[in-house]
Amino acid sequence: MTLHVLSVASEAYPLIKTGGLADVVGALPMAIAPYDVRMTTLLPGYPAVVQRLGMGDVVHTYQDLLGVGARLMRHRFDDLDLLILDAPNLYDRNGGPYLDPAGEDWADNWRRFAALSRCAADLAGGVVDGLRPDLVHAHDWQAALTPTYMRYGTPPAARTPSVLTLHNLAFQGRYPADIFQSLGLPADAFSINGVEYFGGVGFLKAGLATASAITTVSPTYAEEIRDPVYGMGLEGMITARRDQVIGIINGIDTAVWDPAHDADLIDTYSVKTLAKRKANRRAVEDAFGLEKMKGPIFCVISRLTWQKGMDVLVELMDALIDLGGRMAVLGSGDSGLEAAFRAAAHRHPGRIGVKIGYDEALSHLLQGGADAIVIPSRFEPCGLTQLYGLRYGCVPIVARTGGLADTLIDANEAGLAAGVATGFQFDGVTHDSVYRALKRATETYRQTKVWRTLQTCGMQADFSWRRSGLRYSELYRALVTMAAPDPSPRA
Ligand code: ADP
Repeated sequence: MTLHVLSVASEAYPLIKTGGLADVVGALPMAIAPYDVRMTTLLPGYPAVVQRLGMGDVVHTYQDLLGVGARLMRHRFDDLDLLILDAPNLYDRNGGPYLDPAGEDWADNWRRFAALSRCAADLAGGVVDGLRPDLVHAHDWQAALTPTYMRYGTPPAARTPSVLTLHNLAFQGRYPADIFQSLGLPADAFSINGVEYFGGVGFLKAGLATASAITTVSPTYAEEIRDPVYGMGLEGMITARRDQVIGIINGIDTAVWDPAHDADLIDTYSVKTLAKRKANRRAVEDAFGLEKMKGPIFCVISRLTWQKGMDVLVELMDALIDLGGRMAVLGSGDSGLEAAFRAAAHRHPGRIGVKIGYDEALSHLLQGGADAIVIPSRFEPCGLTQLYGLRYGCVPIVARTGGLADTLIDANEAGLAAGVATGFQFDGVTHDSVYRALKRATETYRQTKVWRTLQTCGMQADFSWRRSGLRYSELYRALVTMAAPDPSPRA
């Protein structure tokens, strides 16, 4: 029997992307299609989305969706079945999906994403004939009120099972209690079994309390988040629901990320023609103003934030040059970190190149031309750039946490001797630990054959969606078969 799943998210590649969430939401429909699961994805109608898609079939009109007018439009784009919530008062504005042009959170983000969730719950309740899903899959805090509206809304859709995926617990959607009255939920939803969170409203907390099942994007992160350091206030809730929490590692879209057919590369290559990376390497040198010389080119493709350990890495730039390395940085984020990387490039012209901004094509070229990618994250639910690095022979150097722990085999003596190592891992994000990993990588790089084996092993690892798609589809089917057990009694 074909299962119909509604996926609800705030971004999806290729329409709108700020990070890994978009890649996953964009790839999931194809990942589960082989298992007879048909997914429709509900997204906000940001200007970039509406302009790209144009006018679709209007399948529902709201006079008053949490205080604004809106319409729901249906589209087919690439391989995606889409529902776009066109609500100009909420989404039609300059700026990013979450931030205004000054880089501040939109003040009404709570309403923008509560409306998205309300709409998803309405679909689960059958508001549009023929579009009632068998299951709803919500992603992150922006969609996390969906199962809450399904349980408490009118009419309730609590018999439809729901999955909440945690892509990053650092973003929780916490708001003061006074927004509660505008959410259109009954009074009893402001409780420990609903949205109440430390006296205010917690979107992610509400989703954790009400979803039928919870997934995170790697098994190690699923374990880590029971600990206060990683749980960030939600560890109690996660521990209470541990029987419903599972880790499913993200796959990557192997059609979009394929060094043998990548239009953003100067020269395409495969594991058998690795020498062709040279042309891409030269292009990276040109793009980042790096001198041609021996020694590895390290790269960073990242949000420049504390989570990503960029404060520690930027302090190591002088040491990295002393080791004989060069560095190409592509990213944006904290203004202090952006300035610190720029200053490092200024101190070391020709050795460090920095591009502040977001550039999808350049990220492909870096993966195809740099020698190693550095990912010193303090926590990393899954991480995608190490998976792209593996596939492109850009050897990952990573902190041993979350998905970074689950997806690499360290180049220690055992890993090298067995010929299975794929990268470098280190414990704890400190000056010392990161430095030692960079040193280890630089020394290994000089052993051309060993480095080649690292690249080859990484490129042969299978991080396609095949296995993860199967696991999601099995979870969906199990939940639908169980007919949505209610996780906790309504208060
Ligand atoms: P997160 O979602 O926490 O930012 P991930 O590693 O899961 O981290 O995903 C990041 C995604 O965003 C990857 O697809 C990566 O290539 C991309 N990315 C990050 N920064 C940039 C940038 N400055 N330019 C282009 N792509 C970027």
